[in-house]
Amino acid sequence: MPGISRRTLMRGGGALLGGGVLLPSAACSRLGAPRRDVVVVGAGITGLSAARNLVDHGFSVVVLEARDRIGGQLHTDHSFTSVPVELGAGLIHGRDAYTWELVEESGAETVRVRGGSGSGTRIDTDSPPLDVEDAAAYLRRTGVPESDWPPVSIDNEPLDRWSATWMHRHDLFDWWAASRANYRVVDGYDRLLEPLADGLDLSLSTPVREVRRIRSGVELAAGPDGEEVFRADHCVMALPLGVLKAEDVHFDPPLPTSHRDAIRALDTTDALKLVYEFDRPVFPDGPDALDWEPGADFVFWRISSGESEVVVAWASGPSARDLLAREEGERFAIGLAALSDALGEDLPDPVARTTHDWAADRYSRGAYLYVPPGAHDAPAALASPVDGVLHFAGEPTTGENTVEGGYANGYDLTDQLIAQL
Ligand SMILES: Cc1cc2nc3c(=O)[nH]c(=O)nc-3n(C[C@H](O)[C@H](O)[C@H](O)COP(=O)(O)OP(=O)(O)OC[C@H]3O[C@@H](n4cnc5c(N)ncnc54)[C@H](O)[C@@H]3O)c2cc1C
Repeated sequence: MPGISRRTLMRGGGALLGGGVLLPSAACSRLGAPRRDVVVVGAGITGLSAARNLVDHGFSVVVLEARDRIGGQLHTDHSFTSVPVELGAGLIHGRDAYTWELVEESGAETVRVRGGSGSGTRIDTDSPPLDVEDAAAYLRRTGVPESDWPPVSIDNEPLDRWSATWMHRHDLFDWWAASRANYRVVDGYDRLLEPLADGLDLSLSTPVREVRRIRSGVELAAGPDGEEVFRADHCVMALPLGVLKAEDVHFDPPLPTSHRDAIRALDTTDALKLVYEFDRPVFPDGPDALDWEPGADFVFWRISSGESEVVVAWASGPSARDLLAREEGERFAIGLAALSDALGEDLPDPVARTTHDWAADRYSRGAYLYVPPGAHDAPAALASPVDGVLHFAGEPTTGENTVEGGYANGYDLTDQLIAQL
């Protein structure tokens, strides 16, 4: 998964006002009215980073989150087994990820995943792609042998669904091909959210229904029946693309054509994790991830905790869609049979298993984003503020589908906003 935003982050804030002191929201509201400087919609990594930066600079902020938890696609299940299980994001990609700052701040423990880290084949992409060319057609036209193609489809959609211009513009051919160490957070990825969420004014179980742009800023109707009203000078919309595409949030007046076209042009992939716990180790000694065979439906890796072993079967793109069209029990059976094949041995019955259907999840409506042919300018179009008050954020505006990308974007976007306010 790519990292394209490479701005230096200013963490720790407090430079403008208040030295990072968290003000209770009532104290920040004007004349007692429930009005903030900024309302942030969505408490995933992007929304939390945006809110953290604003609050650390002394602005009054409320974060509205539809679920009864924070984190969005960063979703650690602590109830399952002897180890925390990541139902969404599981890995920190590379030692240079910005999110190491959060590892340090939270004191979380990480471990390097041995094996499963890219193909290592560099691709010569000197000649520019045609505007609406897909990435597979581009590689074919420029004579890159299929054996050297980056393994994008392991994590995402096949290359013929990707914009070659986007991949070329953001060096993604190399990003995916690069050999890079991945890390997981032993005590749960959600530990990284703690320093971001600390002291924020968070309103959970508060789905936003409507965003009205009014003369003095924005007015949002939220809550189960849209009965709660929040007012602010600015609104940061840190929602997943699938939710925007489904038009779950109504905009009044409607979004400009440029923004509606951008939402239509981008797409989300499907991704599915099937997680099994065995009461004894089932992987052979050695790497934590089995080598992926081109064309195989799954990638497998393990999380060991001494006596028991937790194995993740990962499917994405067409393989994930095929599984998601089946009953959950059948998905687990197919994943287990494929694991047994890959290990070349019969397996004991798992003592526990879990999964999460991100496509059916109404606050996600798909897994992460990819940029189809012809859509290479859509993220920038969506990132352009609407009437100076409504600011879209996260994957749909960066095309970057990582925790690190959301973290960087939350800070980048609000650095710009802070400079204006
Ligand atoms: C299966 C899977 C595996 C992944 N693996 C990795 C990985 O290993 N490493 C990595 O770096 N990244 C990974 N990712 C990607 C990463 O999780 C995302 O890029 C990142 O978490 C997106 O953060 P976000 O805050 O932009 O969006 P989200 O996390 O989607 O947050 C958006 C928030 O908006 C809320 N919301 C939705 N509708 C409303 C509404 N109407 N009103 C209010 N709130 C609303 C949602 O509940 C959610 O909390 C993975 C993603 C998935 C799905």
